[in-house]
Amino acid sequence: MDSVASENDARAIRVFFIPFFATGHMIPLVDIARLFAARGVDSTVLVTPANAALIRATVDDAAASGLPLRTLVYPFPSSECDLPPGVENISALPPSDSYKIDVATPFARPEHERLLRLHRPDAVVADTHFPWTTYIARDLGVPRIAFQALGLFPVCVMASVIRKRPHLATSGDNEPFLVPDLPHPVHLVPSELPDFIRGETIITGILEELAEAEKGSLGVVVNSFAEMEEAYAEHYHKVGSIRSWFVGPVALANADAKGLGARGGDDPVAAANRARCLSWLDAKEPKSVLYVCFGSWSHFRGEQLREMALGMEAAGHPFLWVVRDDVDEWMPDGFERRVASRGLVVRGWAPQVAILAHAAVGGFVTHCGWNSVLEGVTAGLPMVTWPLSTEQFINEKLVVGVLRMGVRAAERPGSTAESERPLVGAVELAKAVARVMGGGEEAEAMRRRAREHGKMARAAVTEGGSSYKGLSDLIEEIRKWHAERMSSAAAVIAT
Ligand code: UDP
Repeated sequence: MDSVASENDARAIRVFFIPFFATGHMIPLVDIARLFAARGVDSTVLVTPANAALIRATVDDAAASGLPLRTLVYPFPSSECDLPPGVENISALPPSDSYKIDVATPFARPEHERLLRLHRPDAVVADTHFPWTTYIARDLGVPRIAFQALGLFPVCVMASVIRKRPHLATSGDNEPFLVPDLPHPVHLVPSELPDFIRGETIITGILEELAEAEKGSLGVVVNSFAEMEEAYAEHYHKVGSIRSWFVGPVALANADAKGLGARGGDDPVAAANRARCLSWLDAKEPKSVLYVCFGSWSHFRGEQLREMALGMEAAGHPFLWVVRDDVDEWMPDGFERRVASRGLVVRGWAPQVAILAHAAVGGFVTHCGWNSVLEGVTAGLPMVTWPLSTEQFINEKLVVGVLRMGVRAAERPGSTAESERPLVGAVELAKAVARVMGGGEEAEAMRRRAREHGKMARAAVTEGGSSYKGLSDLIEEIRKWHAERMSSAAAVIAT
């Protein structure tokens, strides 16, 4: 089918998108909704009030350019759990309390059910954390597509560990084991596994329910691209019989300057940071700056922040460092004065994708959240990997071991448990930074591979690219469902 015909047909389709209560899930799903809208699909994002504020700029920007993208706001189930009004996102909580969002999540079901039955969209794209949407959609006779906020590499690694439990055969938390049956040899140590695999959390108790709902859905839409993860899409299908569509890197959906800057944060502090970061970068040499950021909800102890500061000072490269913690407690004496000519410390929210795309940035220190990994790959930047929690150590394996475009910040194994997290010393960090930003064969090769991956990522979303086609295929599939439903309804009326 030619693309004009397919876009015209798509105009008849209404799709609802339901993001989970975490910024790292919300940003990419809103980007996906925007991509659907750009193909003429009438797109609505279901969101709670405090989270609506995080995505308002992106949605308003899209709507102002004439795209059919809007939000539908429903109340967060605050009264059903131990969360104060207005706290509706993991980023608004210290990591030790993030489980409270998981406690609240099932209480969102009645509102999802009410809105889906009331508006009867033609398809539902809902985060994997909302398994009930599979059954509501089935009841309404429409497809549910699961949104997987991770790539298929970490999903396949975790599924294999959950199935085969190789970590239980090790003699200690720091003893490496091979993850069985994967396209690449991936070694992990038990202490670096996500907490819900290592121990028992709310998520451990619902893993089967989540997997069943994923199987019952039409398939999974993924923020990634085939050139990076094709082998894992095949593996995922072989093991779970689940289809997947790669549509990323979706950050490129907001590639215009305004959308990029406002992505995920449009309060006055974020707006001031945006102007400050970009004009500061404008004055720097190409590829000279190290960008340092640990996502939307990670925190560090004061002692670790201090080592980080000293490490960046010792490394000697210009740096732009986003800090979410209270700075007064840990800043080494005279630090900001000493690095004033080459270091910028930003408190709060920074326009990450715009920063990574800036010509002055030459490397990225990242906690390996999935979005950050993909955004680093898209920008074609080598990375210093510093995972902290959830599946981030697994994403690190992709960056360092498979794509070979990064080095670890830490020399010793890490841990997803905050209490066990080893201190990364200033000298250790400066060494890792030198391996990424400095001269020499290793750094050159890493930069070359990073550039190649960046090129592939950008090509994937341009017309004719693999993710462009992935999105066309998914929309086409939904359109077919819609057409079949319409024709069986017409047949019932005719009889
Ligand atoms: N982000 C940003 N500015 C910040 C911090 C984070 O724009 O100051 C964005 C980043 O670009 C990414 C998302 O927030 O899209 C974080 O997602 P990721 O999966 O990397 O990490 P998480 O926050 O889920 O740990």
